[in-house]
Amino acid sequence: MPALRGRVPEFLSPELTALRDRVAALASGELAALRDDATLSPADRAARVRAACKAAGLYHLTQAEDTPELTLLVVRETLALHNTSHLPGVLGAGAGVLAGVGEPLRSSHLLPVLAGDKRAGFAFTESADAPRPTWAVPEGDTLVVNGSKSYVTGGAQADFLAALVDVEGQGPSMVIIDTDAPGVSISRHFGSMDGSQHAAFRFESVRVPRHHAIGAPGDGRGRALAKISAVRRAVAADCVGSAGWIIGLLAEELRRPRRSGLVLAASERIRLRYGDLRIRAYAARSAVYRAARLADAGHDAVNETIAAKVLASEIAGEIADAAIQLLGGEALVTGHPLEAQFRRLRSLRLAEGETDTLRVNLARGHLDLGKGSI
Ligand SMILES: Cc1cc2nc3c(=O)[nH]c(=O)nc-3n(C[C@H](O)[C@H](O)[C@H](O)COP(=O)(O)OP(=O)(O)OC[C@H]3O[C@@H](n4cnc5c(N)ncnc54)[C@H](O)[C@@H]3O)c2cc1C
Repeated sequence: MPALRGRVPEFLSPELTALRDRVAALASGELAALRDDATLSPADRAARVRAACKAAGLYHLTQAEDTPELTLLVVRETLALHNTSHLPGVLGAGAGVLAGVGEPLRSSHLLPVLAGDKRAGFAFTESADAPRPTWAVPEGDTLVVNGSKSYVTGGAQADFLAALVDVEGQGPSMVIIDTDAPGVSISRHFGSMDGSQHAAFRFESVRVPRHHAIGAPGDGRGRALAKISAVRRAVAADCVGSAGWIIGLLAEELRRPRRSGLVLAASERIRLRYGDLRIRAYAARSAVYRAARLADAGHDAVNETIAAKVLASEIAGEIADAAIQLLGGEALVTGHPLEAQFRRLRSLRLAEGETDTLRVNLARGHLDLGKGSI
């Protein structure tokens, strides 16, 4: 069936195949050059990456509310297959929990985020030592917020936080808290091994307009989880693309004669390990594509997304680890692309849902709620 050659493996439409090829050309050309240009400052690199991705029509895909999950997956996976998915400025900040909000939040927060004029932080994780989850007491037209949040990525640069807050008498809500509001302070700045920066926040009697609570009273956890589900699919796409990139690099290195003349690819032991890595990558990639298709078909794909995120992040981590082991000490030298990938992929097993917690959530989804498919 020659007509199907090239698109059978992912069953992509001709349009998606063309998009994938365009992204691959951009990633392997202009984006790879910007990534590797050591003379650029981080800000200049981000600006040039953003300009290139806007010109190529990629940047806004994450901002449009109707971009299919499969399209986003193809784009993210292809960027990662060329080791460019982590570049700041590739894809625009999406609406997140602000999706579909009405006025005045639409003009004051949503539109400035989409235009790049304001930055948002996602404040879900509670501080480990918090006596109770962040809460708010309604007082007339305001909510009075107290508590703390930890691990807000990009928190120091955020103009506002989308925070999960337990509103007394109503239940959990996603509440927009401006970071310059009186009573908001940063209690800790820290970085994680993947290179990202985070902040922990304290809220002391912060007065927030009541219309900053998004959606119906009490539906905050659902809203947060819908956003997290989309982000989990994004993480999974990044992981399977990164796994593919590592496997490609590994194959190249295994075929290359070493100093001693030895070609690792000639070894049965190495082939066994390499074959196993490809089998795992295949399983993870299949799961990630299926979760995207289920979400596009309108299924409640929360559990399948969990399965895809766990598989993809765990397997990508194993592949990075095994690749370093097979290639030896050089792959651990600071600045080697595998060393950087290993650190990045390690953090994705915790970010957007830690693996064991997700396993338990998925079991609950089926055993208690009858949800999820295999
Ligand atoms: C790079 C990075 C970026 C992040 N960005 C953000 C962000 O922007 N906003 C945000 O809110 N958070 C963010 N996080 C935090 C992340 O979501 C949490 O670290 C993660 O959800 C785990 O929560 P925790 O650290 O509080 O660990 P805990 O919830 O305290 O869990 C500790 C351990 O206990 C076990 N455990 C806990 N609960 C269960 C359970 N129900 N079932 C089984 N085992 C369980 C698990 O093994 C787990 O690893 C980020 C984390 C990382 C690494």
